[in-house]
Amino acid sequence: CGIMGYIGEREAGPILVEGLRRLEYRGYDSVGVAFHEGERLSIRKGQGRLAALGSALAAAGGTARKGIGHTRWATHGRPSDENAHPHADCTGNVAVVHNGIIENYRALREGLIARGCAFRSGTDSEVLAHLIEHELVRCGGDLEKALKEALRRVEGSFAVAVMAAHERSRIVAARRGSPLIVGLGDRERFVASDIPALLPFTRDQLILGEGEVASIHGDHIEITELLNGRRVERRPERVPYTA
Ligand code: GLU
Repeated sequence: CGIMGYIGEREAGPILVEGLRRLEYRGYDSVGVAFHEGERLSIRKGQGRLAALGSALAAAGGTARKGIGHTRWATHGRPSDENAHPHADCTGNVAVVHNGIIENYRALREGLIARGCAFRSGTDSEVLAHLIEHELVRCGGDLEKALKEALRRVEGSFAVAVMAAHERSRIVAARRGSPLIVGLGDRERFVASDIPALLPFTRDQLILGEGEVASIHGDHIEITELLNGRRVERRPERVPYTA
């Protein structure tokens, strides 16, 4: 339902929680965050409200300066701690947050289980984490390539933000059928599913187009088309609201 991501020089925890708080009006049943520090990803999530969980989620980030967060409105799999996002692959190398519905998740899930993947949730979204890890092995570890390959196999709608433990310098995000916006600050970048999440941090925003992928670094962004890999040039716009 709601996505918030950060990469920059400030501590990510409080920024993620503040962004998610501003998406609360959309409604949700669970919340979670994933942080990237050193060579490790850590995930903290649970069923419940930000009012109860927010400070623990923010503190879980420690000094991490990169992370992704999610508020979930369950479509597949009941509201529960395990079904909350972010979802990880079996090795813990990949963390993903997802808005939307993966229509063909059953077939994808069966294929992944046949290859030895163990699923921890009942969501449609978890297939993304396993698919991306599988593609990372085939793509020589390039997260953007792996995400594109994974999404080519997916039917349905998505806004996703993904991190991989071995790729410290970027978050990769993509959308089709669900909105996603990138915010530009001073040596920091944000990604969110809606404008209000970014307003306390920056008004310079770039709306990701349908079927586009963004490679988000602390000081620059590259956008390409999901299907043909073509480079997209787009300037940020200054939104006419304040927080
Ligand atoms: N379909 C996903 C789930 O049920 C994502 C729902 C959402 O957009 O919050 O976990």
